[in-house]
Amino acid sequence: MLELQDVHTYYGHIHALKGVTMDVPDGEIVALIGGNGAGKTTTLRTVSGMQRHKSGSVRLKGQDIAGLRPDQIMRLGMSHVPEGRRIFPQLTVRENLELGAYTLSDRKVIEQRVQEGFELFPRLRERMSQLGGTLSGGEQQMLAIARALMVDPTLLLLDEPSMGLSPKFVEAIFDIVERLNRERGTTILLVEQNASMALAVAKRAYVLQTGEIRLSGDAGVIAQDESVRKAYLGED
Ligand code: ATP
Repeated sequence: MLELQDVHTYYGHIHALKGVTMDVPDGEIVALIGGNGAGKTTTLRTVSGMQRHKSGSVRLKGQDIAGLRPDQIMRLGMSHVPEGRRIFPQLTVRENLELGAYTLSDRKVIEQRVQEGFELFPRLRERMSQLGGTLSGGEQQMLAIARALMVDPTLLLLDEPSMGLSPKFVEAIFDIVERLNRERGTTILLVEQNASMALAVAKRAYVLQTGEIRLSGDAGVIAQDESVRKAYLGED
């Protein structure tokens, strides 16, 4: 589904990704974990076209997507839930969802997707006329995910969906991630600081450290790795 080969990304002189190679197979949940500043967000931004890479290749369903704009990449079936949610606080829940469908024009399809979002997140249906900025953190994350699903993506990029949420909401969000994968077959690339939850839902995982992949493989095996347990799972 998604392949990165020796990808290098810079912010001015800062070399944020130093040759990242990753494979996200069709139908899988893949976790990307790592500490602060490791380059996780940069990886997602590079994949979704929000940040240009300097060299290497990013392929979506076999197609090199270098140089494509984010909306063009979205039309190829990829949707990105950015870090910090970035919902529109002055717009209602429904308006936020409709904006997620800006690449679509068929009103019927848009309305159907809004209803699918409400089925997935009943809390959003109850709050459809409420302003985005007045939702709780967990509800905003639900809205950000529902908005990204408006284009019915085959690949969903999730940047730290559990950030700042209470345990109850964290569980609800991870449940949805698993359901999307199981019921719709959505391929998911999941960036998380909450490594234990991410490794529990993922099939495969990559560990990023200062812009380089340090470890990769079966998520269950990575979860048992001693260096990972010490660094990211809070164990001594
Ligand atoms: P966190 O978990 O803290 O969000 P991360 O793994 O997502 O971290 P990135 O946000 O991708 O890490 O950052 C990777 C590196 O690139 C960091 O050193 C960061 O300071 C730098 N960086 C990120 N965005 C920019 C920017 N817009 N301009 C300059 N440097 C940046």
